[in-house]
Amino acid sequence: MQAVKPRAAMLASPGMGHVIPVIELGKRLASDHGFHVTVYVLEADAASAQSQFLNSEEALVNVVGIPSPDISAIVDPSAHVGIKIAAMMRETVPALRSKIEAMQHKPTALIVDLFGTEALRLADEFDMLKYVLIASNARFLAVAIYFPTIDEAMEKEHVNQSKPLAIPGCEPVRFEDTLDAYLDRTSPLYREMIGMGQAFTTSDGILVNTWEEMEPKSLKSLQDHKLLGRIARVPVYPIGPLCRPVEPSKNSHPILDWLDQQPDESVLYISFGSGGSLSTKQLTELAWGLEQSRQRFVWVVRPPVDGSAFSAFFAVNNGSVRDGTPEYLPEGFVTRTRDRGLVVPSWAPQAEVLAHRSVGGFLTHCGWNSTLESVVSGVPMIAWPLFAEQMMNAALLEDELCVAVRSEKLPSDGVISRTEIEAMVMKVMVEEGGHEMRRRVKDLMNTAANSLSYDGGSARDSLSKLAKECELHLDRVTDMARGA
Ligand code: UDP
Repeated sequence: MQAVKPRAAMLASPGMGHVIPVIELGKRLASDHGFHVTVYVLEADAASAQSQFLNSEEALVNVVGIPSPDISAIVDPSAHVGIKIAAMMRETVPALRSKIEAMQHKPTALIVDLFGTEALRLADEFDMLKYVLIASNARFLAVAIYFPTIDEAMEKEHVNQSKPLAIPGCEPVRFEDTLDAYLDRTSPLYREMIGMGQAFTTSDGILVNTWEEMEPKSLKSLQDHKLLGRIARVPVYPIGPLCRPVEPSKNSHPILDWLDQQPDESVLYISFGSGGSLSTKQLTELAWGLEQSRQRFVWVVRPPVDGSAFSAFFAVNNGSVRDGTPEYLPEGFVTRTRDRGLVVPSWAPQAEVLAHRSVGGFLTHCGWNSTLESVVSGVPMIAWPLFAEQMMNAALLEDELCVAVRSEKLPSDGVISRTEIEAMVMKVMVEEGGHEMRRRVKDLMNTAANSLSYDGGSARDSLSKLAKECELHLDRVTDMARGA
């Protein structure tokens, strides 16, 4: 009989898109499988929204801040955000080591998210099992582990000739949808991604935030030893959807109060995640497209950035507002749309907004957390990918699952016009195509609920297997300590 329960140490990379799924996984391990869970997060990115979130979650898991390492001497300020995060995570390993060393009861398992693989070596040092949480999807995992095996070979056909990337058992990835990180073999980010993909397969298991109906082909291939399973080498556990649960808010929120006044499924919610931003020109076109559509909307808007689309990633700021209209929107926009729209600077309680009965569409940058939050609320999408794996996510949503519409234009192609934006808004919110997407996404929503079901759901099943492994490991370590 197992008396002592396993302990898990979890390490999250900076950014809400990483912190939220790591904490949610920790909560499930604690509540459903009796783990003691400590989640380590970097302190530096504790922007106000994040710290609020962490404070409210501390009951089930122990959240511990690690001082954010100073990477200014090793990374150029203009480096890609992926390089910065990877460097921060690498420099964090000694601090994490000290924390684990100081623990009276050593963790049974170390679970890191995808940028944290440098910390996996601590698992060998402290005799812990080691897992990687992919806070993204099976399609990303497939690409990440397959690239190191094709490396040079892909350059000729995929990069130089723009041919789709064939991955065993999976939908081919269009050249246009491949992560930019993989397109330049000479770039530091490319080497970083290759190293990460290789490191995933040295773990004791890979946890991926998805479920069968969401990504049938990619998941099947990753679990099939004749296909990608041969490359993954370790078990791939689908544990999704891992989303922050929607709490019936104790305090009312101005956005939710406004939504209460609107008809069912009549409002388009617009957000580009925790760090995405648009150029000045694109922001203006979006405002006009929305206005011309005459549909209801809630728009979480941030100041334009005329550089990379992820420049706002480490900061949440409010910008200034003039006569009710943020100065970077067309003059008078807020006044003209007052009867049907709400402009919110920087941040909204997104999971609650998407779950509100009056929200009928989501214009999203296709970050994986946002995507899942939309699916579990049964909301069809306008896919507006900006960076990272978001183009692949948009392809999955539009081409395979048929729950989204997207522009033919790519982020690098310049500006999506107001006319096209208006047409996409009308399609999702009003036209027959939108009704069909809504029907499909609601079906998908039901499969998400089944995956989480206590009665044979695949996410529960995956975590039960992982818990069993940890219990066996704990028994072994305990026996060894007793000299058995
Ligand atoms: N989020 C939120 N309010 C906002 C913007 C984002 O609560 O105004 C949350 C959103 O619900 C999601 C996360 O932040 O859980 C963003 O993660 P995602 O993977 O979608 O995108 P990223 O921010 O990593 O690009």
